Amino acid sequence: MAKKLFIPGPVDVSPDTFEAMSVPMISHRGAEVSKLLEECNAGLNRLMHTNNTVFIFTSSSTGAMEAAVRNCVKDKCLSICNGAFSERWYGIVKENGKEADSLNFEWGEAPDPKRIEEKLSTGEYDALTLVHNETSTGVAAPIQEIARVVRKYDVSLLVDTVSSMGGVKIEVDKLGIDVCLFGVQKCMALPPGLAICSVSERSLEKANTIPGRGHYFDFLAYKKYLDKKQTPTTPAVSIMQGLRYKLNKILNEEGLENRFRRHEGMAEVTRRWAKKNFELLPEEQYSSNTVSCIKNTLNIDCNSLKTKLSERGYVFSTGYGKLVDKTFRIAHMGERTPEELREYLNTIDDILGL
Ligand SMILES: *Cc1c(COP(=O)(O)O)cnc(C)c1O
Repeated sequence: MAKKLFIPGPVDVSPDTFEAMSVPMISHRGAEVSKLLEECNAGLNRLMHTNNTVFIFTSSSTGAMEAAVRNCVKDKCLSICNGAFSERWYGIVKENGKEADSLNFEWGEAPDPKRIEEKLSTGEYDALTLVHNETSTGVAAPIQEIARVVRKYDVSLLVDTVSSMGGVKIEVDKLGIDVCLFGVQKCMALPPGLAICSVSERSLEKANTIPGRGHYFDFLAYKKYLDKKQTPTTPAVSIMQGLRYKLNKILNEEGLENRFRRHEGMAEVTRRWAKKNFELLPEEQYSSNTVSCIKNTLNIDCNSLKTKLSERGYVFSTGYGKLVDKTFRIAHMGERTPEELREYLNTIDDILGL
């Protein structure tokens, strides 16, 4: 029996999605793939609220994080760090031989726009990396306030929305996000393997002035091929079939606003449960609508809980990195329903005797 995944990605993929992917293979240079790419792109533009160019990379999300850095960091980057994934991004900037400073916040805290402004006002930076939804801590950054600050400066705004895009409204163009990236195995509930990345016109112009963009993730190579409705290398065609199918379902069946409301509702249920029994790690106003990070204030044995939940058909998520023993997480993203979530919480209550 398949176990229900309550981890923050990958998440359960519905049988109809797998079915949509189980179609005959097509040439990656034919008319059919161009149509597939075009339709995926049209849907992604709507999902992301952007008219920017959108690239579909055959990689996990981390590939797109590296791509953003290689194409858009020129002299020096400011990396906002408040958890494991934002720290990873800071590492990626340095590993690619670029200069970077980190602006650190405690794990569980939201980045403070005022402190970001202080750093940017030095004029030292031409790019900034921000993780919108820190999956390791369940913190949703105040992206509107941060974007407003960044827009005052000539700084590329690079945003990881890996675990929020498709579950939370993120208006790329209104916010002025230069590069917005995510993977399809989280809120989109597809099998892993594709990373999506929107790129502003001015970022494409900037990339043209940056040497050493590498080969696989070169934005300009991608753009050249996209203009011919192709990708530079063989794309993960089957996952793209799934992506087209899911975009259509999300945009035309469930509807974006309904989808966002469903995620919000599930987050509220989880937060209420968490506050009754434990405590939330983030301040409530910064709590994510797609993943809740809960302080283990009862000192429960998370490994034993994980085993018992597994016996009952669930995959439980412990804390991440240095929070592994101090917190646990409940993902409520993708096609998860409020009913399934309640069943899961009831099962935990039952096991723990809450
Ligand atoms: C999952 C996740 C990543 C890494 O994604 P991969 O697809 O495994 O590369 C990066 N950032 C955030 C916020 C994530 O949740």
